[in-house]
Amino acid sequence: MKILLAASEVVPFAKTGGLADVAGALPLALEDMGQEVIVAMPRYKSISDSKFKIRRLKEGISYSTMGNNIKVYFIENAEYFDRDGLYGDKNGDHKDNLDRFSYYCKRTSELLKEINFQPDIIHVHDWQACLIPVYLKTLYANDIFYKNIKTILTVHNIGYQGLFPKEEFPKLGLDWSLFNMEGLEFYGKINILKGGMEFCDIINTVSPTYSKEIQTKEFGFGLEGVLNKRRNCVFGILNGLDYSIWNPSTDKFIAKNYSFQNIEDKYKNKEELKRSCKLPIKSDVPLLGIVSRLAEQKGLDILAEAIESICKMELQFIILGTGDLKYHLILEEKAKKYPKVISLHLKFDDALAHNIYAGSDIFVMPSKYEPCGLGQLISLRYGTIPLVFKTGGLADTVDKNNGFIFDKYTKEELIKTIKKAIKAFENKEKWKEMTIRAMQYNFSWEESAKKYLQLYAKAKSQ
Ligand code: ADP
Repeated sequence: MKILLAASEVVPFAKTGGLADVAGALPLALEDMGQEVIVAMPRYKSISDSKFKIRRLKEGISYSTMGNNIKVYFIENAEYFDRDGLYGDKNGDHKDNLDRFSYYCKRTSELLKEINFQPDIIHVHDWQACLIPVYLKTLYANDIFYKNIKTILTVHNIGYQGLFPKEEFPKLGLDWSLFNMEGLEFYGKINILKGGMEFCDIINTVSPTYSKEIQTKEFGFGLEGVLNKRRNCVFGILNGLDYSIWNPSTDKFIAKNYSFQNIEDKYKNKEELKRSCKLPIKSDVPLLGIVSRLAEQKGLDILAEAIESICKMELQFIILGTGDLKYHLILEEKAKKYPKVISLHLKFDDALAHNIYAGSDIFVMPSKYEPCGLGQLISLRYGTIPLVFKTGGLADTVDKNNGFIFDKYTKEELIKTIKKAIKAFENKEKWKEMTIRAMQYNFSWEESAKKYLQLYAKAKSQ
């Protein structure tokens, strides 16, 4: 199959979040399965010529490669992309994001013709690429080149929709008749994600549970009606994990490599982690770890309410993250009050993250909502038992066989579940069995890519 993957960030070229991981890993897995894939993304200032061996195709288009032979095309425009920040800077979102990403979508669509690449599927990701399906079904509707192309939209987080004032609508080059309930209008504003949802052939999200949740008022951020209308075309495929990066038996960051066959070596990482984090070495108490954005979405509101009680339990806790100032302050205060219990690191630190995944006993991830989540997948691979709220991708990957899961989003339930985990930790044999079991779950990209291929085939046959 011929596939164009269109995303506004792709590892290794540019990344602000999980979208880039998916957009970087999926093409590689598809190529391994014999598919012909190309990628198109904006050429940001940070994408350097020399680092990525970038070559010029023509005015405004350059390219590089990834995998064996995947061409990654960069849409260039100095006015729009030659600046700091992919979507915004310290002053907030870039004011011309509608101009920037409509340009990216239009130029990407035109590029296909110029390089004579007629894909079976265009797989777009998040609002920044959503005008591609809109343009295909409107501006290019009578162009034979685009006629048989099917489009799939993957929504990574429905909280980000690309909302703009109505007055900017003429910039899109679309007829005003599309500014309505069945088109791009959303309570008097332009909603680009909604446009993508209305015009694509299949809507996908990053976990089966999240695909259902977003059809409800609680999780839909106002788009539940659109999704409900198209419910027969809404799917959810879990993201994979890059096991070449996240592998305790080869991980270069950790003190001692291990696998489920020599689990004892995991505990050497625990000792080393506590030493480096200046926690007293008390091997019989469980070590809890967090690696997360410190935001309400990640459960920081109930964690902040529960933290005083948690600090009084027989445990130690290493927290790595950055985010909302209010959570920084609350955690700082507790870390000062309970220095033998909490080791707090308010920063982004990849090496420490690897060591927390390897050295902790329990990984705490009480997200309020979680489209897919990577933290729990990583911790499972490292034999660090996830403790999660039952939502989205967490509900699809964690259950009582490999972790601890609570289904009422309250501080009381969080505290209760931590107590339960501590109790379970006392039974060393059972804990070891659970650890070994957890490490053998397989959330590889290969599995996810197979499901994507099935979805592409479904779109093609529609
Ligand atoms: P998000 O919603 O933030 O994308 P995910 O669980 O999908 O959440 O992925 C977050 C990724 O970022 C994980 O790989 C996690 O290890 C990493 N991460 C988050 N915060 C930090 C940090 N402070 N330092 C290092 N890595 C971090």
